[in-house]
Amino acid sequence: MAEALAAVIVACPACATCNRVPRDKLGQGGTCGRCGGSLFNGEPVTLCSANFAAHASKSDLPLLVDFWASWCEPCRQMAPAFATAVAKLEPHLRLGKLDTEAEPAIAARFGIQSIPTLVVIHKGQEIARRSGAMPAGAIVEWARQAAKA
Ligand code: ZN
Repeated sequence: MAEALAAVIVACPACATCNRVPRDKLGQGGTCGRCGGSLFNGEPVTLCSANFAAHASKSDLPLLVDFWASWCEPCRQMAPAFATAVAKLEPHLRLGKLDTEAEPAIAARFGIQSIPTLVVIHKGQEIARRSGAMPAGAIVEWARQAAKA
């Protein structure tokens, strides 16, 4: 019961403010206390150095990151599948995209050797990784298993 009533820290996809959401209200959406935006909008978050820590470390939700680049053909092919997976994995996971060209320091920190690479991070710790494009169903199944969500 205590577990069910506990609050979960959720970083806002728009402004990266950390919101406390009662665990039993997670599935009901909710809005950000600062910007008023929806905490779950069905779209992957564009990750950058300004919001990465909020989603990867401060949030209680596991973060599934798609490390990609615009010149990468398999990355572009997987983009619709990744976008489809968002609706299936929210609100248990946050999904974000990290442009390795725009944010090379974060890609280097995770030692990204090839793209696309998907990494699941929880409370700042990498818990799973998989390289190569996957269809939406495989992304959802793999991420759920990795995050135990
Ligand atoms: Zn916000």
